[in-house]
Amino acid sequence: MNLEDITTVRSILSQPQKIAIIPHKNPDGDAIGSSLALQAYLNNQGHKAVVISPNDYPKFLKWMPGSDAILNYERENSQAKRALEEATVIFTLDFNDLSRTGQLEHPLKEHKADFIMIDHHQQPSDYARVMYSDVLMSSTCEMVYNFMEYLGALEHITPDIATNIYTGIMTDTGSFKYRSTTSRTHQVIADLIEKGANNMEIHQNVFDTNSPSRLHLLGVALSNLVILPEYKTAYITLSQEELDQNDFKKGDTEGFVNYGLTLEGIIFAVIFIENREEGIIKISFRSIGDFSVNQFAREHFNGGGHDNAAGGRSESSMEDTLEKFTSVLATYKKELNS
Ligand code: 5GP
Ligand code: MN
Repeated sequence: MNLEDITTVRSILSQPQKIAIIPHKNPDGDAIGSSLALQAYLNNQGHKAVVISPNDYPKFLKWMPGSDAILNYERENSQAKRALEEATVIFTLDFNDLSRTGQLEHPLKEHKADFIMIDHHQQPSDYARVMYSDVLMSSTCEMVYNFMEYLGALEHITPDIATNIYTGIMTDTGSFKYRSTTSRTHQVIADLIEKGANNMEIHQNVFDTNSPSRLHLLGVALSNLVILPEYKTAYITLSQEELDQNDFKKGDTEGFVNYGLTLEGIIFAVIFIENREEGIIKISFRSIGDFSVNQFAREHFNGGGHDNAAGGRSESSMEDTLEKFTSVLATYKKELNS
């Protein structure tokens, strides 16, 4: 954030505001963590801040401090609508374009409030009065920490705020191992532990609450794994039937895609998950090294994200989607083997 942006934010926040904080649709740990951390800070400063999530989020995040009060735009629609209409300031967190908010896209586009974006995805759209966008950041949570530092507010980080920021950095960095993890990330994490984040408890809350059905679903996913050594690629499919047979709940497939990358020699991993209700195949892409899955998802599967982690979708059947994927993949043979 440059000096001018900091001055603008200071002036906006110099009076009590009604604030709506919006994470992306299907929010992950980073989106929820950054939203809750910011909400707690703003409320402690005398503002009236609410988090409005476009839809539900996984159970393994529902212990996060303040998560009880999140308004789900699908489930608590009238309350969420009212809070949004009243807002004088809107923070948009962990996404680069309003289309990432699903049903909220239209009301947000029409809204006259001051928008403040905090995000680390590539190619951000220009809709915000203040745009704090940095694709080199590990996570939006690390940026919320920086944001508080810019405002001279690090001493206002409570144990709850520290816990939320820690959680988002942890989930977005694959527990501090992805390329975006820097020494600065670790310094921030160290400070968060000092400020009251209980690292062991956070890891347990997020990763050690498997249900038997989720582990069975993982078994199905792994047995569906297809390896394409000539493209250094591995992919997994999960059909709606397979999800239904294993009592699928939101968040259950989190992390499955990464198993492909643990194979020696594999640098590109994909998971295709059928969602019959939405009539789509939701796709997650991951890579190691220089192969940009952001570009791949953007060009071929109506998606985007980061260089090494991106998402997309297909409106065709699983069979047709896989056919398209494998034929597109062939055009990347050289790049994947370079
Ligand atoms: P995931 O595969 O875990 O859903 O998402 C990986 C990354 O890609 C996240 O940073 C997420 O925000 C982004 N992403 C996921 N799905 C989409 C999508 O449909 N469109 C865009 N632009 N980004 C996505
Ligand atoms: Mn993120």
